[in-house]
Amino acid sequence: MDLQTRHLFPALNNQSTVYLDSASSCQLPACVIESINDYLRTGHGNPHRGMYAFSEKAEAIYHNCRSKIAQFINCDDTQIIFTQGTTESINLVAHNFRDKITAAHSILVTQMEHHANLLPWQRLCEQTGARLNLLRLNRNAELDTSELEHLLNDNCALMAVAHCGNVTGTVNPVSQMVALARQYKVATLIDGAQAIAHHGVDVEAIGCDFYAFSGHKMYGPSGIGALYCRYPGNLSPLKLGGGIVNRVTDHQYHLVDDVTRFEAGSANIIGIVGLGAALDFLAQWQIDELHAHEMALVSQLQSLIDSDIYQIISHRDASSIISLTSKPFHSHDIATILAEAQIAVRAGHHCAQPCLTALGLKQCLRLSVGIYNTPDDIEQAACALNSVFRILS
Ligand code: PMP
Repeated sequence: MDLQTRHLFPALNNQSTVYLDSASSCQLPACVIESINDYLRTGHGNPHRGMYAFSEKAEAIYHNCRSKIAQFINCDDTQIIFTQGTTESINLVAHNFRDKITAAHSILVTQMEHHANLLPWQRLCEQTGARLNLLRLNRNAELDTSELEHLLNDNCALMAVAHCGNVTGTVNPVSQMVALARQYKVATLIDGAQAIAHHGVDVEAIGCDFYAFSGHKMYGPSGIGALYCRYPGNLSPLKLGGGIVNRVTDHQYHLVDDVTRFEAGSANIIGIVGLGAALDFLAQWQIDELHAHEMALVSQLQSLIDSDIYQIISHRDASSIISLTSKPFHSHDIATILAEAQIAVRAGHHCAQPCLTALGLKQCLRLSVGIYNTPDDIEQAACALNSVFRILS
């Protein structure tokens, strides 16, 4: 199924770039760009900070965007915290476990994680003496869940796992993993950075306590994202400052009760405007349509790649990511050649070094598709990939 949306993206429509790095950051559709433009042209204000129209308009957008996010992932507005993105969301949760765990506890992550869902837990374990357990990744790019129950039973305080791996593209069985974790009363965090724009996300159905994601991976701007939190009342803010208090005296402060207490400082209202528009944009398509479109592109690429040069290391059913290695060539060299042909891909360790190590690698090449990619993009990329041998030899 070809969705034919490329013309909606000015950066792609007006140039000949073949953009295959959406897993890193997406291009923005005209409606998102225009929403920011319109917002700024009609008067910018600081939400909650003024009685005048510009500020009230900003405040309405701020509340409205929170509602749109809640609707998008099936939760209540009171469970959504605006953050800078997935990284900040996860750090906010890790900060809250600092006083909840001791050396008697363990934290469970997986070998598939992006560093954003690993380093905060490594530091927490360093600070508290808790054990960091890792669910292993096998050479089929799947988590070895046979160890899951045993590790959850290790006085585990929290399980943090990617919904979809950023190197392997594997869609993890998060609902089943969370259901098991709940049996052991283990809190659960899902890193949704790579899933939010590609798979229907229903936090009620998943049953997790936390779900983190970023706006720039769902056709919105960078620097804005959110954290879903089942019980926000149990959390304390990572940052303190303006806009989050009922009353402050010389020596004490009293925070407001709602989720705005996690959002100290002036809001990233430009990001929020864009994220709201990106949610409207995404809502135009059925998630099954998006999935089928991206899946068809990935299988097209899988079938066109010369298997004498490349080995596919991503999961066979990955729907938006394909990762490759090539014995003779470094991924940076291949990415440089592709860049000369105006094909944008990502090379290196993808901020997931333990994942690469588990796969027996140090680096790889990743191509990732989005709503705007076409079969022609894939043909151009495959042709350039397959000609690398001739150019580099
Ligand atoms: N988790 C995963 C799985 C990711 O792919 C990324 C971004 N590459 C992140 C977390 C971090 O996202 P951000 O940089 O938007 O905070």
